[in-house]
Amino acid sequence: MRSTILVPGLALALAGSLGLSAVQSSATAAGQRDSSVAPSGQQAAKATKKATAVGYGGAVTSVDPTATKVGLKVLQQGGNAVDAAVAAAATLGVTEPYSAGIGGGGYFVYYNAKTKKVSTIDGRETAPGAMKGDAFIDPATGKAYNFTPELVTSGVSVGVPGTPATWDKALRKWGTLDLAGAMAPATKVARKGFRIDDTFRQQTLDNKVRFDAFTSTRKLYLPGGDAPAVGSKFTNKQLARTYDSIADKGIKAFYGGKLAGEIVKAVTAPPKTSTTKLPVPVGSMTRADLKKYKALTQKPSKVGYRGYDVYGMAPSSSGGSTIGEALNILEQFDIASMSDTDALHRYLEASALAFADRGKYVGDPKFVDVPMGNLLSDTFARERACAIDPAKALTKPVAAGNVASYDGVCSPAPGTRGTVDSDTENISTTNLTVSDKDGNVVEYTLTIEQTGGSGIVVPKRGFLLNNELTDFSTTYDAADPNRIQPGKRPRSSMSPTIVLKNKRPFLALGSPGGSTIITTVLQMIFNRVDRGMTIQEAIAAPRATQRNTATVSSEPAFITAYGALLTPLGHKLVPAGDALTSAAEIGAATALEFGKKGKVTAVAEPVRRGGGAAGVVSKKR
Ligand code: GLU
Repeated sequence: MRSTILVPGLALALAGSLGLSAVQSSATAAGQRDSSVAPSGQQAAKATKKATAVGYGGAVTSVDPTATKVGLKVLQQGGNAVDAAVAAAATLGVTEPYSAGIGGGGYFVYYNAKTKKVSTIDGRETAPGAMKGDAFIDPATGKAYNFTPELVTSGVSVGVPGTPATWDKALRKWGTLDLAGAMAPATKVARKGFRIDDTFRQQTLDNKVRFDAFTSTRKLYLPGGDAPAVGSKFTNKQLARTYDSIADKGIKAFYGGKLAGEIVKAVTAPPKTSTTKLPVPVGSMTRADLKKYKALTQKPSKVGYRGYDVYGMAPSSSGGSTIGEALNILEQFDIASMSDTDALHRYLEASALAFADRGKYVGDPKFVDVPMGNLLSDTFARERACAIDPAKALTKPVAAGNVASYDGVCSPAPGTRGTVDSDTENISTTNLTVSDKDGNVVEYTLTIEQTGGSGIVVPKRGFLLNNELTDFSTTYDAADPNRIQPGKRPRSSMSPTIVLKNKRPFLALGSPGGSTIITTVLQMIFNRVDRGMTIQEAIAAPRATQRNTATVSSEPAFITAYGALLTPLGHKLVPAGDALTSAAEIGAATALEFGKKGKVTAVAEPVRRGGGAAGVVSKKR
């Protein structure tokens, strides 16, 4: 059993040790500005980026130095991995507000060192109860809305947020802090401020037209009509007050009460500016939808891979099933003894085959009977692996396999009746990895979907609402497991993954990047386990993503290194940043690798998305 704050005063101590003043739970004085940008040189929480840290006693790695620093402080002051993960995530809601926050959702994977078990929480956003199957059809034209500009910036794509419920559930089940304790350091960062970096400014500029469409968003993120300057201090007092109220009253202050009414209003009657030309279709969310929301505890997906056990997210995410199936296919080959060409050819083909099956079979299990046992069966994988021609890339899209009838024996090569998933996602979302001195591990991916979510800040509340429902298929097809249905969770690609060896952690890893998350995590495991790379090399290595499409979106460095080898086999490598991947970089991963005697190697991206921040509690044992 857990009491409320098991570490009395920890929140206060944390706030102090972060160089932030004592916990303030009272609202700021009336008339005070809700956001402020001060010139550089004024005091703000400082933190530095470091891509690799090796040590003991626990570790945190995330895209953001302030979030990593907060997580490490929680660990240093006696909190466990779950406390630190929630504290770091709440901080990302402040410092990386366009990728994550209480207006979104995510998936939380936890390894319990005592029980040696992996558990997961599905905190995915949910479609409102009144959402119709044709919600993405424009009533004016009878045709599907375009992703841009209609759906991406809309109320109709806002799902009921799952992040506050996820934090609360994780802390209640496994934490030592309560929500108030875990959120306190982030609230301080919001109130006291942080430095704007290049990525923050650029993401604001990229969203200028969308942010300018809402009075609330313009006021918060375009003060004076421009994105905050690099090096300036940014505070978000609105968000600090929202965090305070959740800390004081619990998540009922989010899923009920005044705030719930304000969220509903922002979705159903978005606070549009008089000047915007964006259409902003409205949504149907009600207070009852918010009240009903539950973060779900569920069994992880699991596959054995070359002596390791790989645990991931089961549906509503397609991460665990797709990575698991691709690994099972790759396991049919002796990759370690292969040339780069042969190994990468198998990686691309295995990924395409697994994506074909994801498209046909995976959706929210509350609505769809997902054949996980078949998708993750070694016999099924053997049969799928038979389809790979060692000398020639299959014509894409390949058709899905038949889960109702397979025997592991080679059948004719799959036809090309497969469908290509539309991927309108980009390098939004964020990921963090945490361990503690007792060996507990958290892998957590959270998002508001698009960078900047729906673009709608809930007025005076300081956070953006997601546009996660764009992860549903936009057109209606009764056979599509990912079609819109009321109360359903859209299929995700988020893939927080923990790899065990003999029931002990070996790796924990994850990444943002829409459906490229799956290939990024797959490629990193492949690099580390099969291709002899260190975990740092596995993360830094150039990426390519084959999601059952005619071309393979690839980072330029991948094309330089392997283009001449893979093109003759028929792989059409094109630079990422194409129609299939809106960013030139694929993913922004974090990972921990666990060594002997408590040693942990924490790794973040050295370069992508401006580089991340890894840290350990202690350099010495
Ligand atoms: N909506 C995406 C998913 O759940 C995550 C957003 C992204 O990374 O672009 O798969």
